[in-house]
Amino acid sequence: MRALVVRGRDAAPAVEEVRLPAPGPGELRVRIRAAGICHSDLAMVNGTLAPAYPLVLGHEATGVVAEAGPGTRLAVGAPVVLNWAPACRSCWHCRHGEPWLCTANTAPAAPRGETADGTPLHVTLGLGALAEEVVVPEHAAVTIPAGLPPEQAALLGCAVLTGTGAVRNTARVAAGESVAVIGLGGVGLAALTAARRAGAAPILAVDVAAAKRDLALAAGATDFLLADDRLSKEIRARTEGRGVDHAFECVGRAATIRAAWRLTRRGGAVTVVGMGGNDDLLTLSALDVFHSARTLRSSVYGSSDPDREVPELATALADRTLDLRPLVSGTVGLDEAPDAFGRLARGEGARWVVTFPD
Ligand SMILES: [Zn+2]
Ligand SMILES: [Zn+2]
Repeated sequence: MRALVVRGRDAAPAVEEVRLPAPGPGELRVRIRAAGICHSDLAMVNGTLAPAYPLVLGHEATGVVAEAGPGTRLAVGAPVVLNWAPACRSCWHCRHGEPWLCTANTAPAAPRGETADGTPLHVTLGLGALAEEVVVPEHAAVTIPAGLPPEQAALLGCAVLTGTGAVRNTARVAAGESVAVIGLGGVGLAALTAARRAGAAPILAVDVAAAKRDLALAAGATDFLLADDRLSKEIRARTEGRGVDHAFECVGRAATIRAAWRLTRRGGAVTVVGMGGNDDLLTLSALDVFHSARTLRSSVYGSSDPDREVPELATALADRTLDLRPLVSGTVGLDEAPDAFGRLARGEGARWVVTFPD
């Protein structure tokens, strides 16, 4: 089958023929219908993370079960969304209501399959979903209703779960609270949508690119603000001089975390959703940390339980109370995925989604 493979750090991803093993006990083969290209896929290539290569990219996808290994429950043909952090349900974190921190997911992944020349092949976050097919443990597949638009359903597995969960689960935004979201990729736009659904106001969307304005307003923002030196003033002008109750940092850089900190009110909360680098240090003064009384915390996978929340979001998508069309900048075929990857790297659009023929 064909997959988007990267051969090493800073190498250009390319479509290659690869071989996957047949599903073993407890595993499924899933035929992919649509897979989003996420910033974490860029992190696999640009040195932010150090994965093993060659690597199949992709971890945000929907598809249908094509083959069920021994001892599985799901039927062939079942529509699913893939979960890149399937919880073991038995480690300390799982037993204490934090399945998103499951320690079973921290083990380095073994290769799965091989390239055409017989080199062992690695798959992103146990999935490798920018491919015609994946072979995954059954608990990495969450069933969803049939008939959802695949290019929107795919986003439930990463951007939407992450952005929604940050607002709902991590920060617990309440109606009437003010929100700023910095960084308007797929996750940031999903956070805007969730803030709107939570009844937050105002909802201030912030990005360096003026071209994100229309996207932000369509996703649920009440205002769009450019990230420039006037930002703090503009935010205070819209929050009676205090700053926002909640800021969401969806970039993953110390500089934007610091910006989020400064535009949050005393006693407010900063939620870091973006994944940054190990050498990018955040500096805050001890006096500032004490005096501002702000909370700084991170949101890993939206502090969510995908087994419960993906079906909820899928149901909302089905009954049209959730509209993810603003998040999808366009759909492309697998052969155009390398180009779409470049567009994401340049910050163009929201989510580019690779779709596969039915
Ligand atoms: Zn992702
Ligand atoms: Zn666990």
